[in-house]
Amino acid sequence: MTPDEFRAAGGELIEWIAQYMETVESRRISPDVKPGEVMAGLPQEAPEEPEPFSAIVADLNDIIMPGVTHWQSPGWFAYFPANSSGPGILGDLVSSGLGQQGMLWATSPAATELEMLVVDWLVDLLGLPAGWKTAGPGGGVIQMSASDSTHTALVVARHRKRSVAAAADMVAYTSSQAHSSIEKGANVAGYGHVRLIAVDGEYAMRPGDLESAIATDRAAGLTPAFIGSAVGTTGTTAVDPVRGIGDIARREGVWHHVDAAYAGSAMICEEFRHHQDGLELVDSYTFNPHKWMFTNFDCNVFYVADREPLIDAMSITPPYLRNRVSDSGDVIDYRDWHVPLGRRFRALKLWFVLRSYGAAGIRHHIREHVRLARWLEARIAADDRLEIVAPTPFALVSFRHTAGNDATAALAEAINASGHSYITASLLDDVSFIRVSIGQTSTTERHVKRLWDLIAGEA
Ligand SMILES: *Cc1c(COP(=O)(O)O)cnc(C)c1O
Repeated sequence: MTPDEFRAAGGELIEWIAQYMETVESRRISPDVKPGEVMAGLPQEAPEEPEPFSAIVADLNDIIMPGVTHWQSPGWFAYFPANSSGPGILGDLVSSGLGQQGMLWATSPAATELEMLVVDWLVDLLGLPAGWKTAGPGGGVIQMSASDSTHTALVVARHRKRSVAAAADMVAYTSSQAHSSIEKGANVAGYGHVRLIAVDGEYAMRPGDLESAIATDRAAGLTPAFIGSAVGTTGTTAVDPVRGIGDIARREGVWHHVDAAYAGSAMICEEFRHHQDGLELVDSYTFNPHKWMFTNFDCNVFYVADREPLIDAMSITPPYLRNRVSDSGDVIDYRDWHVPLGRRFRALKLWFVLRSYGAAGIRHHIREHVRLARWLEARIAADDRLEIVAPTPFALVSFRHTAGNDATAALAEAINASGHSYITASLLDDVSFIRVSIGQTSTTERHVKRLWDLIAGEA
């Protein structure tokens, strides 16, 4: 493809994406395809001869699009959002256009330094501890996913205790409501034990139970190595008491990691920051701009309060990666901040988003999503047939049908069958409930009212 051919095809595809943005609302959110249907519609062998670009776009329209789930529909209320935006898409396009490999400062000084800048910006914007800036002892890095960051934190915590115990005798603690990535990361990192600590009536970890679990494990000769707490659990956006857990972690000498994957974005608004009280006691922290900060997947930010143990656990330098600047210690080589070596120029899309929206623009949208969630929560709470099952600190509304699990499941199915609104059915203990997560970029009052009319009509 010559630059001229690229210009023509690229212009068409930008138009194609713009039309998708304009029409996504009218598309059925969940595709009507059976397993195997998309694959069966395409040749099972790769083409031997070059094909015209127009043939690829035709198959994109005819075979791929019918199998796409429309996460960017304004009626998307399922899971958490993975909200994209024009600036985020364009930033990602430039990243592809430049094709950088930012593993070392020397392999792309701009990719490294723009990343340092945007993660530093976010420290101020989200009210995080000032020592987490790259000029301090800590620092931030962009990774692929919150699961990656949590796994990284588990590896660092294990590495720190390696002279005290074997991994098989180490214990990781988190709440029974924590995201599965903590247990998965602990398994991958070789921890012998994972303890799921009980939660209170609002689904937040009970620090007293954490303390006694640690004491029991120590008495059994095991080594507590990692505590994961959550600001905004996936199930119901419950907030663990970070300060109380942080005090225990400090006293016990255990690594404390905070998973704020979804709710971290809300901290750009000061009124939510009481939920992250105690972060100065934390060793590492992660949140996803790719969920609720208008930055296309993938973009996850990972902070450490002290980067020494992170780099100590992750750094290996073969001769072909040695260079004068790295040896000087004057620069950050981000390949030492996670497992992968190669890394994309992800900071571009976040920089495009932060500049295009401005902090005020992001705050505006987050506050609007929260306002709409509280509006919906109030409607549900006032309806005798329905019941709120967990608090709404952010923009996730959790509710059930009072007639029980079957009625809740039927309501969930009816909502999703509408085609225009899409929610997730979940389970708390043995109680079925419905999660309505408000946060897609173009969701407005009209879409939430349409969802409420549907719920009220089907309940
Ligand atoms: C979504 C979520 C994750 C997983 O995020 P990925 O970036 O997809 O790995 C982890 N923790 C919490 C609390 C989440 O909500």
